Amino acid sequence: MPLSIHDTYSRSKRRFEPADPDRVTVYVCGPTVWNYAHIGNARPAVVFDVLFRLLRHTYGDGHVIYARNITDVEDKINAAASAEGVPISTITDRFTAIYNADMAALGVLAPTIEPRATAHIESIVAMIGRLVANASAYAAEGHVLFDTQSFPDYGKLSGHTLDDLIAGARVDVAPYKRNPADFILWKPSKLGEPVWDSPFGPGRPGWHIECSAMIEATLGLPIDIHGGGHDLIFPHHENEIAQGLCSHMGGGADHAETYARYWMHNGFLTMDAEKMSKSLGNVRLVHELIDRFPGEVIRWALLSAHYRAPLDWTDDLLEQSHRTLDRLYQSLQDAARETGRSAATPLADPGQEAQALDGAKAVVDALEDDLNTPAAMAALSALATSLRQAVTAKLDDAPVKQRTLVLAGALLGFLQANASAWFEGGADESLKAKVEALIAARAQARRAKDWPAADRIRAELTALGVEVLDGPGGAATWRRRE
Ligand SMILES: [Zn+2]
Repeated sequence: MPLSIHDTYSRSKRRFEPADPDRVTVYVCGPTVWNYAHIGNARPAVVFDVLFRLLRHTYGDGHVIYARNITDVEDKINAAASAEGVPISTITDRFTAIYNADMAALGVLAPTIEPRATAHIESIVAMIGRLVANASAYAAEGHVLFDTQSFPDYGKLSGHTLDDLIAGARVDVAPYKRNPADFILWKPSKLGEPVWDSPFGPGRPGWHIECSAMIEATLGLPIDIHGGGHDLIFPHHENEIAQGLCSHMGGGADHAETYARYWMHNGFLTMDAEKMSKSLGNVRLVHELIDRFPGEVIRWALLSAHYRAPLDWTDDLLEQSHRTLDRLYQSLQDAARETGRSAATPLADPGQEAQALDGAKAVVDALEDDLNTPAAMAALSALATSLRQAVTAKLDDAPVKQRTLVLAGALLGFLQANASAWFEGGADESLKAKVEALIAARAQARRAKDWPAADRIRAELTALGVEVLDGPGGAATWRRRE
């Protein structure tokens, strides 16, 4: 079954066909790195990680380019930096490392590229320059604004018209705007804020332009799939389309030209304080949750609802997810005992290995139906049931079914831990992933001779009860402190 995707732009489910199957391009709006990620921020990272895994399965690992940006210039970052009296990079390096470590603990693969806004100021300034040159943007009081009247299709993604945006006061009215819906591309920096030179005067970019400029610079237009949270449809993605197309095609571009061929948006995560009271209380940060639950349990809970539906986040959901994963790992552990082999290694007989992969088809089919993770997870549970039956009856195909379960799990990012290790303490697995991501971030900081960042990450590791042992040539190992 080919992949179909519910496309926000056309408001319909469409069969996915990449422009170039050898180079499938995906862009997802990433975090603004000023603080710890809330569990709601983890939902898009996990959902689009499943998409990334599915596309790699279909088109091949080397044929999918997944970009997830880091917003590292923003008001909240400036505020955090000035509160600590440090440069913004101190804040953004710290929280980028923590974000990536937290996502790794949730089984999220590193994206192919992770562009940072501050590393693309040149592309941003060039894009704004083109918009001004073709009269899609104008300068006013030190700002550069996008002229929404210059783009007749403004509002098509979100279904808004300029009139109802103004009537509904969904836009900020500022004296220097020609039209209330016009948005900032470049603005003057306040005292103490980071500042870059530009032909429009010293200042810094607005938020929306960074994604368009980085998409153009790293992937090229049009991209195949653009993703993000539902709350980004308006104004962020609406603005991305307007500025991205107008800078490319000139003023008055319409959607005969395409910015992103498919748009995917995940629904909200909702929390009910009462249902949360049992053990979670006020634990809402990924960073804290992964100390309480194995990362895989949190991932299971995040994928338990269809990505477009709202997800009700409760204690019960996490407990239930934990029980389900225990059951799945139990069938793997029982099978390993019976077959005497680990399901992590491919079967020696290539025919059997192909058969095992074929057995994962039910999971692939469910995911190809607009990323239907609840159905895919039900299919995974059915594979575990089938494995248990084969093991109990001592059937010859038990090793194939054992292998199928692990291969099917990989498509969703589950069941990749050793079953015994899972029962010895699943939390250790997520701790391990987190520690290794932090050590990699620290090594990077050391290579860049950013000693304060390296020291901060070491302090973070110490707080986790981990001791880092630096070896020759920059290699580092670690151990739990007694
Ligand atoms: Zn974005």
